[in-house]
Amino acid sequence: MLVPSPVTAVDDPYVPSRMRLAESLHRAFPLDGELVDGLISLPRELFVEPASRFRAYEDEALPIRFGQSISQPYIVLFMTRLLRPEAGLRVLEIGTGSGYQTALLAKLKMEVFSLEILEPLYREAENRLRALGLLSNVHLRHGDGRIGWPEMSPFQRILITAAPEERVPPALRDQLAEGGVLVAPVGPQGGAQHLRVEEKIHGRFKKILSIPVRFVPLV
Ligand code: SAH
Repeated sequence: MLVPSPVTAVDDPYVPSRMRLAESLHRAFPLDGELVDGLISLPRELFVEPASRFRAYEDEALPIRFGQSISQPYIVLFMTRLLRPEAGLRVLEIGTGSGYQTALLAKLKMEVFSLEILEPLYREAENRLRALGLLSNVHLRHGDGRIGWPEMSPFQRILITAAPEERVPPALRDQLAEGGVLVAPVGPQGGAQHLRVEEKIHGRFKKILSIPVRFVPLV
């Protein structure tokens, strides 16, 4: 559990809301204490727009720039858990956005390769992660995630944080390692979207789970 030091408690205005969020996430994910602590250790106020900072530790999605959003902490944890994170595994993330999800994967000591299509968001995420000292196991690139990062493949994990309308781009499936796990929302904006979890076994994809969700589009 998060226990603020006396100094933090006096100086940090986010401590009460952070503690509240930590408690509610620990209740929601009783078996994933390490994951919850990793997420709560991230200063989410630095990943959102200044105007939204006072809401940084509410369990809700918040706007970042260019009409994009940072996912709700619950969803970030939920997706991360489905990804079956393990230290040292190579993970390809599509849609860096603010870098919040990226930062959690880095905290979990994964080797993260993350692509963002909007250049200013890519730059900001890079500065933010550098300032937090998280760039040593994170590789960011400005580019189209539908193409993936073939030079760095295969990846043991692939996480997509923007929804393709119809299907996971085939190039990404190709870049998943044998035995790897793919977590991706699929479906049209404003329509029925599902979070798909698939495992690659003998070159074929086995569906493990599909649940309704809502994400911004993969463009
Ligand atoms: N995981 C992010 C939020 C992602 S929002 C966070 O924690 O903040 C989805 C992101 O996907 C947006 O930043 C959007 O610009 C990006 N995106 C959409 N289409 C993309 C594409 N084809 N390639 C790379 N990134 C894309």
